[in-house]
Amino acid sequence: MLTIKNFINGEFENPISNDWIDNYCPANGEIYGQTPNSSKADIEQAYQAAKKAFPNWSQTTLEERSKILIRISELLEANLQYFAEAESKDNGKPIHLAKSVDIPRAASNFRFFGNAITQFSSESHETVGKDALNFTLRQPIGVVGCISPWNLPLYLFTWKIAPAIAAGNCVIAKPSEITPVTAFLLGDICLQAGLPNGVLNIVHGLGNSTGQAIIEHPDIKAISFTGGTKTGVNIARVAAPMFKKLSLELGGKNPNIIFADCDYDDMLETTVRSSFANQGQICLCGSRIFIEASIYDTFKNDFVKKVKALKVGHPSNSKTDIGALVSKGHLEKVKSYVNIAENEGERIICGGKTVSIEDYKNGYYFEPTVIEVPNNECRLNQEEIFGPVVTIMPFNTEEEVLQMANDVKYGLSATLWTNSLKRTMHMTTNIQAGIIWVNTWMLRDLRTPFGGIKASGIGREGGFEAFRFFTETKNVCIKY
Ligand code: NAD
Repeated sequence: MLTIKNFINGEFENPISNDWIDNYCPANGEIYGQTPNSSKADIEQAYQAAKKAFPNWSQTTLEERSKILIRISELLEANLQYFAEAESKDNGKPIHLAKSVDIPRAASNFRFFGNAITQFSSESHETVGKDALNFTLRQPIGVVGCISPWNLPLYLFTWKIAPAIAAGNCVIAKPSEITPVTAFLLGDICLQAGLPNGVLNIVHGLGNSTGQAIIEHPDIKAISFTGGTKTGVNIARVAAPMFKKLSLELGGKNPNIIFADCDYDDMLETTVRSSFANQGQICLCGSRIFIEASIYDTFKNDFVKKVKALKVGHPSNSKTDIGALVSKGHLEKVKSYVNIAENEGERIICGGKTVSIEDYKNGYYFEPTVIEVPNNECRLNQEEIFGPVVTIMPFNTEEEVLQMANDVKYGLSATLWTNSLKRTMHMTTNIQAGIIWVNTWMLRDLRTPFGGIKASGIGREGGFEAFRFFTETKNVCIKY
């Protein structure tokens, strides 16, 4: 049985209240670990450690900070197999995905922000005609909180931590209680890399206890959060009276818009991925697929053929395309949407059922599912399912599909398939989303701004945007 501990001030600690949560393996449904359910007292301990570390860390040279971040990155790379196995076991994702995407990206996050901080600069403005010079300082905030979800555990956890500490802050970070393991393992990597004690404190536990204690702490001055929209609403409500800085990366219900003039084979291949990668549990998955009517039937046949060929299996099997969903509760949620579709008279074209895998009968497996919907107003097109379920429907005109793409409360990402430049410009300027891919999906450049609009959140992560979030801006005007 794995015992996960909090990482506070460079030490591995049990929760003060001795309260623990079971940690499940999604591939077989068995409990294989215990995670602390930390309370206010643990958060206070972490806060004191972070506060103590801040004066020195914020004055550490950029070269030194950069060196430590890059060392963390190298250590993650050196332990790729170990971390990938841990992530796959904890989350249910195929091992090859953890090995090719999750862990390499976690390493890239540290390398990227370790390098980027050496290039981040302040601005100066000469106020011509008034004998004055303004310069703008961007100073670390102090102690900040980072809270992340279960779908890309170490990938999203480090996406927040790396820029926060690179910018000179000290951090209290909480991974999802559903996938705590790789965050726990990161503590040891930080020690090996020589990160000073207290700069990063990793605290585990449930959202409504540990997470709530972080957001309610009056001296944790900024919260970077990725997770569900409902949780984001609560965080905004709690943080607003304390004027905390907030970055909220929330849910999505992203359109994938396919025009007949696209590169068909490329589109088909990528659409299978953008629908079902990571069991469809990526906030950027294109879960509403709109297809131009002239190629609708062809697409439907070809797409379903490819989806049916996807292999649902144990995450450690190298042939597995679709692993286990993250938890029993999430499996039930995904199933409930198939029931809704049936009750609303929508057509389940393929999938729709749980899968029983030999020797792992209690695992949380679900078929990749394609549902034909009659309109965009149905619940399956309006609510985030966050699993291996996509809807398809035809459209006739640009204006019609634009209206449907935008007629949803979310605005995270969109994917567009077309070879017309004019249409690309018209669509991309009018789609309500923070991130748009044209003729590709999930092609990431870490310098670019990342985030959503509407109910998908506020603020942007990535590149210098992340440093702007994790610093306070101070302008100094000198009259000479
Ligand atoms: P969630 O909101 O339930 O949990 C996310 C994190 O918040 C967890 O660590 C959880 O413990 C914590 N939390 C829960 N209640 C809290 C509270 N009251 N105070 C403080 N923290 C609290 O989300 P989830 O189920 O883990 O993740 C799935 C959601 O995340 C989906 O909606 C998905 O779209 C979204 N997501 C968004 C992005 C993005 O970049 N926009 C990326 C990945 C996932």
